[in-house]
Amino acid sequence: MNDVVLKPGKEKSLLRRHPWVYATAVAQVVGRPQPGDTVRVVDCRGDFLAWGAYSPESQIRVRCWSFREEEGIDAAWMAARVTEAVARRASLAGRTDAVRLVFGEGDSLPGFVADRYADQLVVQFLAAGVERWREPLVDALVAATGCLNVYERSDAAARERDGLAARTGVLRGRQPPAEVEIVEDGVRYGVDVVNGHKTGFYLDQRESRRLVAELAARVGPSATVLNCFSYTGGFSLAALRAGAAHAISVDSSADALAMAARNAARNGLPEAAFECRVSKVADAQKALAAEGRQFDIVVLDPPKFAPSVHHVDKAARAYKDVNLKGMKLVKPGGYLLTFSCSGAVSVDLFQKIVAGAVIDSREDFVLLERLAAGMDHPMRMTHPEGEYLKGLLLQRV
Ligand code: SAH
Repeated sequence: MNDVVLKPGKEKSLLRRHPWVYATAVAQVVGRPQPGDTVRVVDCRGDFLAWGAYSPESQIRVRCWSFREEEGIDAAWMAARVTEAVARRASLAGRTDAVRLVFGEGDSLPGFVADRYADQLVVQFLAAGVERWREPLVDALVAATGCLNVYERSDAAARERDGLAARTGVLRGRQPPAEVEIVEDGVRYGVDVVNGHKTGFYLDQRESRRLVAELAARVGPSATVLNCFSYTGGFSLAALRAGAAHAISVDSSADALAMAARNAARNGLPEAAFECRVSKVADAQKALAAEGRQFDIVVLDPPKFAPSVHHVDKAARAYKDVNLKGMKLVKPGGYLLTFSCSGAVSVDLFQKIVAGAVIDSREDFVLLERLAAGMDHPMRMTHPEGEYLKGLLLQRV
């Protein structure tokens, strides 16, 4: 039996069922667990706290599978979690064929991510524990979905922190086509699962894409959109398909915007309505301000500015700056959707940063809605770190 014995007092977070054991909390390791082996986490008196996966290279030394001593952690247990996770998303099937089927801790499988794009599955094993169970996890996923094609994109930074080398390639079935086509809320998108960001698409913005479509419809056929950090054009396409007149998509990646333009064609949108600018957002914002342009809807969806808590101050300044410049580009009565996907920036802090930008902008904005990832990104109530994406819908008054 491999036991991880915690220092006195360090059992508190596990008793609250937080699923991570930090290296600094460990007093002693009994046995010789290998990376990914199942260990019993016990308090200083030897009382059971959790079953977890041992990760000797990571600061998160154990990621917990279960807090129930009677549960056996085996291939059947893994398969049951996958089946549950897939079933949890069933209600999305009517809206989209692109869904995050498994979301790590939120689905009790720390470090495992599985996305479905039409008949293509894409998986990420981002921790030693799920790496150990990769075959049963993939088998269960194939069984639960009937999808025969599985591509691995275990190339995220998190994997390195667990001492695992990056790994990508076909796990089951065929090599994915250059573009897998998905349909979400009636809009078609091409997804490059081999080279795209994350596993190819920002599934986490589905609800906000729908909101942008609603706002565009509310504004009417003259609606104009500025989509900053557009990637493959998601928000622009949603707005244009809902009847907006014109959208500018700004991204520093020419590849992302090339896909965005193909997506516009895929949806039969007139070329004149779909403008792309390969540019840093700060430069584009400056140029648009100089041209005296303003938009009915401005979207700000930057990359993660704060990779960890150590970067929060610097990130706060960057968020404030991009928001301040973005606010100047919103027409009176227009909408601003602003996001942060930095786990280290809390919902409260993000709202404070944006409020600071409002003050400096000397314009007035009201908060209409708080935005977050959809229901295929569940967050365990005992693991608030799972809530990384937060956003605000503001209206300029
Ligand atoms: N809104 C997108 C996802 C945005 S991800 C969607 O819903 O699909 C962040 C994007 O910002 C990436 O596409 C990246 O290429 C781009 N990016 C990062 N830094 C940038 C910068 N300084 N200026 C412009 N684009 C940037």
